[in-house]
Order: sequence, then structure tokens, then C-alpha cells
Amino acid sequence: MKIIMLGAPGAGKGTQAKQIAEKYSIPHISTGDIFRANIKNGTELGKKAKTYMDQGLLVPDELTCDLVVDRIKQDDCKKGFILDGFPRTIPQAEALDAALSKMGEKMDYAIDVDVPDENIVRRMGGRRVCLNCGATYHIVSIPTKVEGICDKCGSEVVLRDDDKPETVQKRLSVYHEQTQPLIDYYNRQGILKTVNGTRPLEEVFADIVTILGA
Ligand SMILES: [Zn+2]
Repeated sequence: MKIIMLGAPGAGKGTQAKQIAEKYSIPHISTGDIFRANIKNGTELGKKAKTYMDQGLLVPDELTCDLVVDRIKQDDCKKGFILDGFPRTIPQAEALDAALSKMGEKMDYAIDVDVPDENIVRRMGGRRVCLNCGATYHIVSIPTKVEGICDKCGSEVVLRDDDKPETVQKRLSVYHEQTQPLIDYYNRQGILKTVNGTRPLEEVFADIVTILGA
């Protein structure tokens, strides 16, 4: 069961990916985790990745793909794995397919957690974070008892710059530009499955389980 999770930032794909990994006992592989593990363990690939990250540069596609392929060759991936945050671009997707094909394998599912932009903008715009203790709230789903004041420590809660509508919209534009071609790519391969991500987490998860088969 080799799965790619697709979905805009804020669509909840990370949460779904973790739950799928748990249910099917397969590793949840995120590029962030791989970078951190390789850097921590001082591997050759990790050292290379670090030189880019230290300069604030994106790790090149080829190196990212090498790191991912290195990870999926490990024993715990024999039953399958779920990729979260990779591939992000067509060159990455092609590199992944080429590497898998050398191993006599291919991806089984690309699951797109679909949430309209305006919905994500609204979700993120409702987030509030305590300046003092870091507690997180949401004006609709997890409101503070007193408006604008942290329940835990009494400090001010604020809308982070990252969650402001204009910032979120910018991030979404970049996402669509990069990822729409990927959606088309996996659709052509016949492995794309789209789930409606606007519903409660457990309903979205139930849909994914139906797709994957229990
Ligand atoms: Zn607080």
C-alpha cells in the first residue's frame, strides 16, 4: 500500500496521513522528518541537504528524491508507506516513479484532500495563538472563554501573520501552481482519488479508508 497524500496547506492532509499510517501500520514519511533525521545522524545526504538549508535555499529535487528513496528502501516500508509533502513538483514525481520502477514497484494511490481556498482562508483566519504560552484556539471551533484572552494564562491571543488571509492566499497560489500539474499527472496514471476535505476529520478519514479498503 504505497500512498501519496496531496492537499493544500491547511487542508488537514498531515492529520489524515498520520491516522492512515497508524491504522494500516505503515510508516508516515514526511520530508521534514527525513531531513531532520539525516542531519541528526550526519549521513552524507543529510550533510548535503544541510548546506542548502543553512543558506535558506530549497533542497534540490534530486537530493530530496534521493533522501525519500533511501527512506522507502528501509525494511519497515516493505508493506507500504505514506508520503506526506513529497512529491511537490512534476520533476520530483517523475524522479520518484523512476526510482520505484528500478525497484520493480509503483505508487498505488494519490489521495487529494480537497478543500476550497476560501474555506482554508476562513479556517486559518480564525486561529488564535497565545503570545505567552503558545496555546492555540479557534474563534469558531475552540474559542477562548473571554474573547482575546488565553484561558490558560490570561495573556493576549493573536492572529499570527502566517494565518492572515493575504499570507494564506499567497501560499495557496503557490500550492496550486505546483500541485495542479501533479493532480493531473496522477489522474493520468489512474491512481488519483479525491476526497472532500471540508467535512469533519473522522468523516474524511472514513472516506479514505473506504478507498483503501479495510
Ligand atoms: Zn496563554
